[in-house]
Amino acid sequence: MNKIAIAIHGGAGTILKSSITDEQETACKKTLQKALRVGYAALEKKKTAVEAVELAIIELENSPLFNAGKGSVFTNMGTHEMDASIMEGKELNAGTITLVHNIKNPISLAKLVMEESEHVMLGGEGAMEFAKRMGCNFEESSYFYDEYRYQQWLEAKESNVVQLDHTTIKNNKIGTTGAVALDVFGDLAAGTSTGGITNKKFGRIGDSPIIGSGTYANNLTCAISCTGTGEFFIRGVVAYDVSCLMEYKNLSLIEACHEVMHHRLVKIGGDGGLIGVDPNGNVAMSFNTEGMYRAYKQSDKSEVIAIYKE
Ligand code: ASP
Repeated sequence: MNKIAIAIHGGAGTILKSSITDEQETACKKTLQKALRVGYAALEKKKTAVEAVELAIIELENSPLFNAGKGSVFTNMGTHEMDASIMEGKELNAGTITLVHNIKNPISLAKLVMEESEHVMLGGEGAMEFAKRMGCNFEESSYFYDEYRYQQWLEAKESNVVQLDHTTIKNNKIGTTGAVALDVFGDLAAGTSTGGITNKKFGRIGDSPIIGSGTYANNLTCAISCTGTGEFFIRGVVAYDVSCLMEYKNLSLIEACHEVMHHRLVKIGGDGGLIGVDPNGNVAMSFNTEGMYRAYKQSDKSEVIAIYKE
């Protein structure tokens, strides 16, 4: 069988061993492992990279531990506004949605935009209308509620700050979700899903639903999913920049990810991380924060699940 590989992330930020209990660490690792296994099993069954990415992200969206789907962070209005995107590397098709609410699995809606609409990006009420027509699963607002994130929001609201899900000192909850995969057909795909940043205002949109910034896939180079302060990832066109360094400068996946995360993004003040996979099944996981919830598995190799800096 041709090589297959999948990598996932659950957000990057100030994640210190000292700020997380053993139980929390175990719960997070378990959820990451489950998502990784679901995605890898799909690839083994010869499902496409797009399907594997969707399935892995659904697991993370359904867990309240992660800032996507159930457990998304609160906006300044005390609501949830979710963003997601997916892209495949063969034909460069993509689907993205932004500012949606009450959708159980935003990543599936992004995939429907890619596969069933003539557009790439749908936002707000229009995206919601499309979701209704497509028969997507909706949930009551209470489904998305998470006590920890509510408290986190109250704190942020009081001090009038906008914050990345995992940057508070006492933070022990985690963030945005993403997956990248190489399937048995040699095709790449990437997806990202998030509730954004706590206390965001005015219809703020981050990098996660922006193709080229938070998500990108191209069979010639790589599939990338990012996490971090979206404003910087948009300005740095981060996911596409990794691909460009590979295509135009012949850098390897690992070199390109390192260059973007540790030099280019740092220069403009950006913090966060990314995961990537290339057509040979190489995996990169690069971040300039204290930690990033992450996991990967490549053909015939054992799974790797990690949180902190090595
Ligand atoms: N990149 C996301 C955003 O800015 C947040 C995150 O990765 O945690 O919306």
